Amino acid sequence: MPELPEVAVVRRGLATGITGRLLDRVEVLHPRPVRRHLLGSDDFEAQLSGRRFAEPRRRGKYLWLPFDDGDALLAHLGMSGQFRLDPVAAPDAPNTRVRFVFADDGPELRFVDQRMFGGLSLTAGGAELPDEVAHIGRDPFDPLFDLDAAVARLRRKRTGIKRALLDQQLVSGIGNIYADEALWAARVHYARATDTMTRPSAAAVLTAAAAVMRDALGQGGTSFDSLYVNVNGSSGYFDRALAVYGREDQPCRRCGSPIRREAFMNRSSYRCPRCQRVPRHARF
Ligand SMILES: [Zn+2]
Repeated sequence: MPELPEVAVVRRGLATGITGRLLDRVEVLHPRPVRRHLLGSDDFEAQLSGRRFAEPRRRGKYLWLPFDDGDALLAHLGMSGQFRLDPVAAPDAPNTRVRFVFADDGPELRFVDQRMFGGLSLTAGGAELPDEVAHIGRDPFDPLFDLDAAVARLRRKRTGIKRALLDQQLVSGIGNIYADEALWAARVHYARATDTMTRPSAAAVLTAAAAVMRDALGQGGTSFDSLYVNVNGSSGYFDRALAVYGREDQPCRRCGSPIRREAFMNRSSYRCPRCQRVPRHARF
């Protein structure tokens, strides 16, 4: 699954590529990605034609493409969803599912999705904040993100710190990879009971999460081609910066101890057994 930095890279590419442009027509090449549009593909095409995009927005891992009339297109990237901006004459990439043709005859926006867990849906009045995203907490990059309030919410929860980080209602945008990276940076074990954490310790974890995601975003920015907006959570193009995730048995970059992989929440958690010891107050 893409995490916040990957989605942020996509949003940035789309902002450059589609903001202010008028749609001539939309072509649904496979109905599955628009399955959430209950009136069907033909209606989806008809509803979107003639609308003009405003600047794409994001909260956490959620991305939406507002129109200047106040509605928005919500984009679920799923496991393999990608947006491409391609010249009109360019052949379709494999697995192109939806095509957006602009009145200016400039590059088309193409939604490509191999596995089709993702999809696109029209959300009425959703330009500012779609209903589907309203319950999601602000992410650490949001100008209105309030660190003290997030720390307070975290410490009121009776759970483990990694579970809390992955709870998108508490703070959004942090997925499995960056949760492990943030906990390593802050030297905190993933099962540390949130209600026993000090305020500075909780703040350090959230600050570390923002920092590791900012680093990843910086790297994505350098490898980013404006004509090819790609998001694929499994592509691993941020991997080289990772300190613990995916590094089982390799030495901790701080103390040299072999990194340990453990099953947690049906996924893998990576930690340094020395920098991130099992806490006295743990909630698994
Ligand atoms: Zn270590």
